[in-house]
Amino acid sequence: MTSTPGGTMGKTAMNERDVQARIAAAERIVVKVGSSSLTSHGHLDVARLEALVAAIATIQTAGKQVVLVTSGAIAAGLQLLGFTHRPNDLARQQAAAAVGQGLLIAQYTHAFAAHGISAAQVLLTVEDVTRRESYANALRTLDALLRLGVVPIINENDTVATHEIRFGDNDRLAALSAELVRANALVLLSDIDGVYTAHPDDPGAERISFVPDASALVVDAHKAGSSVGTGGMATKLDAAIIATSAGVPVVLARADQAAAALAGQPVGTAFAPDDNPKPAKLWWLAHASVAKGVLRVDEGAANALVKRHKSLLAAGITDVSGDFSSGDPVDVAAPDGQIIARGLVNFGSDELPQMLGKRSSQLVRELGAGFDREVIHRDSLVWRFKTGVTGTTTDSTGTTGVTDE
Ligand code: GLU
Repeated sequence: MTSTPGGTMGKTAMNERDVQARIAAAERIVVKVGSSSLTSHGHLDVARLEALVAAIATIQTAGKQVVLVTSGAIAAGLQLLGFTHRPNDLARQQAAAAVGQGLLIAQYTHAFAAHGISAAQVLLTVEDVTRRESYANALRTLDALLRLGVVPIINENDTVATHEIRFGDNDRLAALSAELVRANALVLLSDIDGVYTAHPDDPGAERISFVPDASALVVDAHKAGSSVGTGGMATKLDAAIIATSAGVPVVLARADQAAAALAGQPVGTAFAPDDNPKPAKLWWLAHASVAKGVLRVDEGAANALVKRHKSLLAAGITDVSGDFSSGDPVDVAAPDGQIIARGLVNFGSDELPQMLGKRSSQLVRELGAGFDREVIHRDSLVWRFKTGVTGTTTDSTGTTGVTDE
């Protein structure tokens, strides 16, 4: 059921201790907590929230900068609306979040104030932290808050975005925010004390204390989240992949271990950051872009892309869908429709149809100079990625650790 990376082929020379030391020394930290860690019997549990705030306050008072990404708005709203359980429809979940967010932030504000710390509410969507037009604004605000000694408290803006409600309990938003604010560590707090070699309830399941390469980890992450949270293990591992591939060390621990995790003690599962993080363009393409279209390719082109990491040529493309311009991100699909890569395309959706299946010489002869260019250059392609922004290939099986070869 499980295989774990041996470490020899990992993307890092770091060991567990090194990663814990990096987390303990981090000056800017993103801490993410899920709904299930803030609730008891489906309702907001103020004692658990206060315990988390106390752990954060300790390091904040010691001069560190902390961004808190928190869920729990829906759970808080259920209580106020008199719902006995989380509604199934999105609209009432959003309504519960709108009602609960005020209560959630009020509790945090109160709890931080007891430590002499001001808190700020920041409601974001994944697009806000990934789209060029908005991320600079988000970063400017967060930076200013951190420099003022305030703890920004981020939640998904559930009124206009439903990605985290449906897929992730803010895991992905936290990883993207960690890259945005150039955090030195990401601490993911949940109701499980780490990644296990099998379902944690299985006899013989063991906690994996160290993962040298998150993208090479293959575990059965079928266990869905609890009834109040939406983020199972799969979305946490996605978050670990996103952050570590941007060079950010990650620890996944149980919420009541927050202080120990922040102090770099050996709790939970530590994920080593890539020693050589992807260039920003490719990181963005892999984890934060939204595909504007899909190019379906034949078997030969699919193999050349995935196995030999070649550029994509017009000759191998069989079908084009979507509306995109040159320079836009597009997905590449195998003949069976499975998305195998994402890249920045060199031609628009109006130009490509006439080029399909044609070799370079024919393209130049029929369409003119320049049309023999690769459709996607290998330097603008990523082969191993998750597309949680669009949800098109989000880990529907719950099994993470994509292997591309
Ligand atoms: N932003 C939502 C919340 O705070 C998402 C998490 C969820 O689905 O429970 O409640």
